[in-house]
Amino acid sequence: MNNHQTTHTAIIGGGYAGMAAAVALAGRGITVTVFESAQQLGGRARGVMHQETQLDNGQHLMLGCYRATLRMIEQVGGNIEKDFLRLPLQLDLHGEFSLKAPRLSAPLHLLVALLTARGLSFSARLHAARFMLELRRMNFILPSPKLGGGVGGEGNDITVAELLAQHQQNTALVQKLWEPLCIAALNTPIHKASAQVLLNVLRDAFNQSRADSDMLLPRINFTALFPQRAANYVEQHGGKVYIACGVEALRPLEDGMEITTVQGTAQFSHVICAAPPAVAARLLRPIAALAETVAQIDSLEHQPIYTVYLQYPAHITLPHAMLGLHQRYNQWLFDKGQISGQHGLLAAVISAEGIHQELSQDELAQKVIAELCEEFGIIEQPQWFKVIAEKRATFCCAPNLQRPSQQTPLPRLLLAGDYTAGDYPATLEGAVISGLKCADVITM
Ligand SMILES: Cc1cc2nc3c(=O)[nH]c(=O)nc-3n(C[C@H](O)[C@H](O)[C@H](O)COP(=O)(O)OP(=O)(O)OC[C@H]3O[C@@H](n4cnc5c(N)ncnc54)[C@H](O)[C@@H]3O)c2cc1C
Repeated sequence: MNNHQTTHTAIIGGGYAGMAAAVALAGRGITVTVFESAQQLGGRARGVMHQETQLDNGQHLMLGCYRATLRMIEQVGGNIEKDFLRLPLQLDLHGEFSLKAPRLSAPLHLLVALLTARGLSFSARLHAARFMLELRRMNFILPSPKLGGGVGGEGNDITVAELLAQHQQNTALVQKLWEPLCIAALNTPIHKASAQVLLNVLRDAFNQSRADSDMLLPRINFTALFPQRAANYVEQHGGKVYIACGVEALRPLEDGMEITTVQGTAQFSHVICAAPPAVAARLLRPIAALAETVAQIDSLEHQPIYTVYLQYPAHITLPHAMLGLHQRYNQWLFDKGQISGQHGLLAAVISAEGIHQELSQDELAQKVIAELCEEFGIIEQPQWFKVIAEKRATFCCAPNLQRPSQQTPLPRLLLAGDYTAGDYPATLEGAVISGLKCADVITM
């Protein structure tokens, strides 16, 4: 058990992982100091101003099963029902496919939704429902080939495409349901994505309570939603949060860690490095004992996410707050007028690798505009558009990925971040859980 009086933890990075760790520690009476290199908190999920309009660094959404993140938001003063537009499970690929969960308990709501989905043959719907029942029977754990169909075991992961083929999910089912779902959840194409991680998400979203599969669309920006409130909470609990104060170096000491920023050096009993993987690798690389951890981080591949924001005249709306398009550049569209009262503002999200990366940002925006015209008859031109291209938005969530653990060979140095070991793909929930795990280790 660490002595809370002498424990002073530095946290590198004020994204969701770092701020979750900071709140958890501050709430338990530990002194924390957060160092954030950017001008504002939030990291990849930060608020961005453009043309006097509040945007996010990419449209984000959360699921009802993101329990750790939702609890954290509440702990720092948020109100989930006010902060989010809550949409019961509904997937709509405009004109091609739609699925809506009835008000039944889980997993019946999903089974009925699959069996009554529009845009699929009866046999495809039956196969989809059977597949979900089979996953439930497997407890959402892939069978180990070595055990002849038993469950568990390391290294038994396969790609989502292989799993779908094993369960006779036909092309229409794959293209209209599983592929969009996998890309939305894992930001990785099905032929590269980990089946086990997708099963972890399906287990948590569809298997326990109906509200777990709700989609939560934030009404306020992602910096305001949690990191800024978290900073206030930390300061009220005696901690400090420095922005525009990046950490340049880390050095292990006999009884702690030293960190260097532009403002000088300081010593702490513990450090949680919650910077993105490339920065974490750079900071850890000079420390010989961490060579294996650095090698794990270096071996991660990444996937992009592009968000195209378009400001149309205020009367322009979409049929739903969120809907998808089938086999188009636009994968998911969000009507910010319906979500956050920003009338005429649309967000088009294009996740994972693909041919869209061959286009310039202007060309991509023009494709998005043309598709909005073809699909919804929007003939007006947007007053402005803004493309946010995050080339390294998330790690590529491949099968059997070895992600670095939160605990490193140095007991006083911990790692937090969506890329560290865990059940989840690179998500806000994965990031928050990693931060909470670090806080638990320090207060153990
Ligand atoms: C466009 C986009 C859309 C996404 N959509 C979703 C979604 O819908 N749902 C979902 O759950 N997830 C989504 N994600 C993933 C989600 O944003 C991330 O998983 C999550 O924000 C990662 O948080 P983190 O704290 O691990 O890392 P980061 O957010 O990267 O935070 C790291 C922080 O460290 C700071 N930093 C860097 N270098 C230093 C340094 N030297 N010193 C101090 N600080 C430093 C950075 O500025 C940053 O604030 C999306 C990501 C992107 C990019």
